[in-house]
Amino acid sequence: MSIAIYTRNVKQSQSWADILKSNLQNERIEIYPNISDFVNVTFLVCWKPEEGLLGKFPNLKAIQSLGAGVDHILDNHVVPSHIKVSKVVDVNLTHDMWEHSMSIILSDMKNLPLHAKNQKSKIWKPKRYTRIKDVSIGILGLGSIGKYVASQFALMGFKVGGWSRSKKEIQNVDTYSEESGLKTLLSVSDYVINILPLTKETRSIVDLDFLAKMKQGSYFINIGRGPHVVNADLLSSIDTGKLRGAALDVFEKEPLPIESAIWNHPLITITPHIASLTHIDSVFPQVIENYNRLINGELLLNLVDLSKGY
Ligand code: NDP
Repeated sequence: MSIAIYTRNVKQSQSWADILKSNLQNERIEIYPNISDFVNVTFLVCWKPEEGLLGKFPNLKAIQSLGAGVDHILDNHVVPSHIKVSKVVDVNLTHDMWEHSMSIILSDMKNLPLHAKNQKSKIWKPKRYTRIKDVSIGILGLGSIGKYVASQFALMGFKVGGWSRSKKEIQNVDTYSEESGLKTLLSVSDYVINILPLTKETRSIVDLDFLAKMKQGSYFINIGRGPHVVNADLLSSIDTGKLRGAALDVFEKEPLPIESAIWNHPLITITPHIASLTHIDSVFPQVIENYNRLINGELLLNLVDLSKGY
């Protein structure tokens, strides 16, 4: 049994190799493509595996995603059902997603981007702001991240609703499921935050039909995945004034191509997929735990349901 590491960043792969080696001293841990014997690899630790990678390991038993999403694995690879796939669930990563969303919303509520722009031209122009108690937030996806983000906003005093495939019970959060629930949530939310996983069902979910259901003058935040959004539909909804603006952290193609119209849109805030970054010190214990569980024939942590795609 051995462990293979694959990321698209040499330094990142090396950091993972170092930390795993120092904690699993009797195991063979190698960075792809420098694998001494592909037949021995049972555990693959990876981020954005290249096409055909999985097929190179005939005895692979488990894949550990280095992030909360697994679309980077399931989108481009057929994963046989006997291979277990695990994702990261981490308190710091989850908390960071809330801090990012909170920063975007508070900054927008108090018109800080507008005042920063005015300052450049020495324009003194007061504008009414909104208060937390008057603001509704709708969260798409109430999984390990969405549930926490919803609860934190509720604790701050926002009116919070959330939507998921199966109905949830979360203190001080109005929860919805199914199409009818989504329609209701979108119609009452001043801010809609997408924290869904990317699956066949959720790809392109934010299209004209979805945007038409949003409250007039509301604001869209995407911290899920780029392909959740049909960009042309989002841009036209902002240009027609249906939406007040959007903050996008994730994109179909990353980095966002320089020719993209999104870059120059005055009502869109772009961040480079930093709502939450995986911190190796925080995440490595669960990777080691999963490897040990695999060796001992135990159930892995944070398993993905391959039939659902998340
Ligand atoms: P989980 O798998 O824990 O939760 C997913 C949630 O989405 C669940 O509540 C699930 O419903 C719901 N859901 C899935 N499919 C549907 C559907 N078709 N209709 C309605 N609800 C649906 O995921 P996490 O919370 O761990 O992560 C969510 C996503 O956040 C990741 O997949 C990733 O794409 C993104 N992410 C982005 C980061 C960034 O930096 N921008 C960083 C980390 C994650 P149910 O509960 O009923 O199953």
